[in-house]
Amino acid sequence: MPTQVPVNQWVIPVSLTPIPLRIAALVRERNSLLEYPLERLAGVIQKIGFRCTSCAKCCTRVFNGHVFLLDRDVTSVRTIDPAALEPAPAPEFCDQHGIFYVSGYAVRTQDTAGGCCWFLENGKCRIYDRRFAICRIYPYMLHREPDEHGDIDWRQFSGLDQHGEYDAYVPDDQSLDLARETKEYENAFLTHEIRFLEFMQDYFARNRLRHVQKVYDDRLRGFNLGEEITVMVYYDGTLEEHKIRN
Ligand code: SF4
Ligand code: SF4
Repeated sequence: MPTQVPVNQWVIPVSLTPIPLRIAALVRERNSLLEYPLERLAGVIQKIGFRCTSCAKCCTRVFNGHVFLLDRDVTSVRTIDPAALEPAPAPEFCDQHGIFYVSGYAVRTQDTAGGCCWFLENGKCRIYDRRFAICRIYPYMLHREPDEHGDIDWRQFSGLDQHGEYDAYVPDDQSLDLARETKEYENAFLTHEIRFLEFMQDYFARNRLRHVQKVYDDRLRGFNLGEEITVMVYYDGTLEEHKIRN
């Protein structure tokens, strides 16, 4: 799953690279993803032979960071329990007036040691049949990351040897289904991020706004000391305003 950090553990934004370059990089990434052969991913899935042991570690912040939601997941949460939503941590931008902007929502965690997902109850997901896109594909993934030597290559599995068992026989059709769903999720995630950046590029230009790192840092410091901040969350092609406090 993507990283999960509670609101009170926000960190500095991911990238100060100009927006057009970030969009171009994401489009290239998405093109590479689409070219990645489905059969190759299915083969990796079969080779790993992962078997889930239902330990529920993946549903905790301490193991997996935050659960980022696609728009369709947000729509679904709103019908189940709107209180489960919160702005995703690490907003990408802060304008000159101190307003933060983040690309989407995350699932709130419970106030427990390790930070269990809002929907985890007695070690089980209480919305299992309606769980989110990222929860359905986990621990499979398909994106490129640098390894310990800085060489960038594809990663297809999260937390190898840290959870579950690796003795399963995965039939061809099942591995292909998993591969298809994983690629579909990664494509949807990248498309969401691209749309967010395109939206922000236009929104900042139209409203004469700009990202100011010093304002970001100052507001974040105030937030960590208990001050209220305003966060605009990108959802369904627009921004939703939230006032939040640490
Ligand atoms: S929604 Fe369910 S499967 Fe997903 S992280 Fe929460 S408890 Fe786990
Ligand atoms: S996917 Fe892994 S971490 Fe999650 S419940 Fe299964 S074995 Fe545990």
